[in-house]
Amino acid sequence: MKRVQGIGVSGGIAIGPLVLLNQGGTGVRKETVEDVTAEFMRLDTARKETIRELDEIYRRSLKLVGDENSSIFQIHSMMLEDEDFLAEIREKIENERVNAEYAVWETGKLFSERFAQMDDSYMQARKTDVIDISSRLIRVLERKSEESPAPFAAPSVVCAEDLMPSDTIQMDTARVLAFVTREGSMTSHAAILARTLQIPSVAGLGSGFSELTDGVTAVVDGFSGEIFLEPDEALLAEYRVKRDACARERESLRSMAGQKAVTRSGRSIELNANIGHPGDVDGALENGADGIGLFRSEFLYMEGTSFPTEEQQLQAYKTVLEKMGNKRVIIRTLDLGADKQIPYWNLPKEANPALGCRAIRICLKHEKIFRTQLRALLRASIFGNLSVMFPMIISIDEVRAAKKIVEQVKTELRVQGLAYSEHVPFGIMVETPAAALVSDSLAKEVDFFSIGTNDLTQYTLAADRMNSSIAELYDPRHPAVLWLIEMTVRSAKQAGIEVGICGESAADTGLTAFYLKIGVDELSVAPSRIPEMKKAIRELDL
Ligand code: PEP
Ligand code: MG
Repeated sequence: MKRVQGIGVSGGIAIGPLVLLNQGGTGVRKETVEDVTAEFMRLDTARKETIRELDEIYRRSLKLVGDENSSIFQIHSMMLEDEDFLAEIREKIENERVNAEYAVWETGKLFSERFAQMDDSYMQARKTDVIDISSRLIRVLERKSEESPAPFAAPSVVCAEDLMPSDTIQMDTARVLAFVTREGSMTSHAAILARTLQIPSVAGLGSGFSELTDGVTAVVDGFSGEIFLEPDEALLAEYRVKRDACARERESLRSMAGQKAVTRSGRSIELNANIGHPGDVDGALENGADGIGLFRSEFLYMEGTSFPTEEQQLQAYKTVLEKMGNKRVIIRTLDLGADKQIPYWNLPKEANPALGCRAIRICLKHEKIFRTQLRALLRASIFGNLSVMFPMIISIDEVRAAKKIVEQVKTELRVQGLAYSEHVPFGIMVETPAAALVSDSLAKEVDFFSIGTNDLTQYTLAADRMNSSIAELYDPRHPAVLWLIEMTVRSAKQAGIEVGICGESAADTGLTAFYLKIGVDELSVAPSRIPEMKKAIRELDL
């Protein structure tokens, strides 16, 4: 038995076989083949199998993120029927007498370059699709016949160097017992997603990751960050008991969902959910959320292979608003950057992306994208109780610039006769020390504050939230961070606007009393954390 230590980023216990995802991608070998017909047949069988798999992914994705965001898998499927693409692969196999894998890879690269050179931006964006679909086809070709068709045929612990939110969305999460990654940390977005999905997760394994072997049984402790490889019977028995206790605890907490978040001394607080997809709303409601405190809208942009259109966004926002009825829904405008990238938008590489052109900065520089989102948001506003907030604000100028665009968009909609609500509150995220320090002035410009402790901690302590090697320095309870929070809350109170917290430390029950005492009005946490938060709040006597 071996023990490997990482960072527990999503609580829970899992016991099962490890599956190591091959994320290498392009290591395609060139081989000479004698039997060209046999190679054609291999290609055709793999092609049909890939289409079948894509179909399955499409159906899974439909359930998770809805129609608009899933159509990409149908497009991929159609590409595998494209006669030009297939003819070119076959020609390569025949003329150069090479293996199908190599022919697919070379043809994929060629088509991708052709797409990149086209004038139409939609067609340009298809270049990543060709590479994606070629890699998928190669993976199927490389699979030996006795191997299972998907790495998750049986429930498994999924191990990867790193996981992007877009990787996770493509998995059949019902078969994922746990996530384990070499990289990542508590506030990386894959970890946030794991908590939303209630999947135990250990990140930041570092060199310990090389100890993991495909197929080996492991115990994953998402609380302590420990992983036990080939556990002995005694340890297995101990962890089975823990796992079952955990499931029972979760079940018993469910009864808290219907309760109000009110302390024993009678102080109540709005307890909201953080979501990334319209599909997460059900979990938020089941766990008893008072509303949505943070809808990370950028996930809509990360799942497809081109920008979501105004209509697609409108549908997504409308779905969330309608499902939430008259409960408040705070949607954050596009917050791209750092670990949230979109493959179809080739933004210049930056030396320090977390300090670079991200979030509101991107939106103000690329106004067309921002306007499309604002149009969709405003049009959706008639379907529920919408609030909108801007991320990564550092100055009043940014707020004024964003609000000016909002006003222009409203005028545009009015002229076009498109309905929207005039009463949408606009707020900002306070997640930079600069915003906290000038929060008294900012409070006069906006309708509410939502404190993003994930970034506030990172920028205050100069500690990269993604860097597992300095995880011990990244401390949301550091007095400097708490001081900035208190300062922000005071500014909000003086200006008479609402203030909430939507970073991960909103769910830190060790800080709940502090937040309540300084006057925080709202906490927004992963849906799965709501019942335990309610329990903790109801036991508090301020
Ligand atoms: C935050 O920074 O605290 C936050 C909620 O935003 P994100 O984690 O998406 O950066
Ligand atoms: Mg943030």
